[in-house]
Amino acid sequence: MCINPRLPKVDKASTVRLRYHVLARNDSIAHGTRDYFTQRGILALNLVSAPGAGKTTLLEHTIRVLQRDVPIYVIEGDQETSFDADRIRATGCPAQQINTGAGCHLEAKMVADAVAALSPVPGSLVMIENVGNLVCPALFDLGEHAKVVISSVTEGDDKPLKYPYMFRNADLMLLNKIDLLPYVQFDVSRCWDYAKRVNPQIETMPICAAQAQELGPWYTWLRRRLAAHKRA
Ligand code: MG
Ligand code: ZN
Repeated sequence: MCINPRLPKVDKASTVRLRYHVLARNDSIAHGTRDYFTQRGILALNLVSAPGAGKTTLLEHTIRVLQRDVPIYVIEGDQETSFDADRIRATGCPAQQINTGAGCHLEAKMVADAVAALSPVPGSLVMIENVGNLVCPALFDLGEHAKVVISSVTEGDDKPLKYPYMFRNADLMLLNKIDLLPYVQFDVSRCWDYAKRVNPQIETMPICAAQAQELGPWYTWLRRRLAAHKRA
């Protein structure tokens, strides 16, 4: 995880203690947020990917299709701008933008504050779009019930092995931009193989978010999760 380079130099043991402290505090806030969601039958998902993989585009289509059936709320994480929250609000869905400034991931406290501002109704779906980054968002629990990792064929098929923490911690991997496969060097079966190697349980689906194609299995996955969550 990232430590602010402007901090004074500390010895290795202190750095390890600091990391442990930061993550422990984060996890305790995240547990509180998850309890809040679970008690109200709210399903919360943490969408993670490299920048530009298509998270916001996927959310726009998902909201248009599912918001008739379930109230949806979105929390957007970016270093700067409210571009993504503006795009989400244009679909009619409430959205809260978090700007992390120099930070490169969302933390549980930021999400807890955004949830308080949105106050999602019981039985709703909360989608958290994390800052585009395949590294430290894997380490920070935000209080979600599952992580969904979005890869795209323009990023290369080796990412699950290069960033194993992210793929190990995700329940579902969406492979986006498959309409570009004829134009890029990308071996889909190798990518699935690498993802299963770091996480044998991970579910995988090819999608094309920009054209709103091949999204059926994703909607089925979401509906199944929502139903299971309500029963629990
Ligand atoms: Mg985005
Ligand atoms: Zn970070």
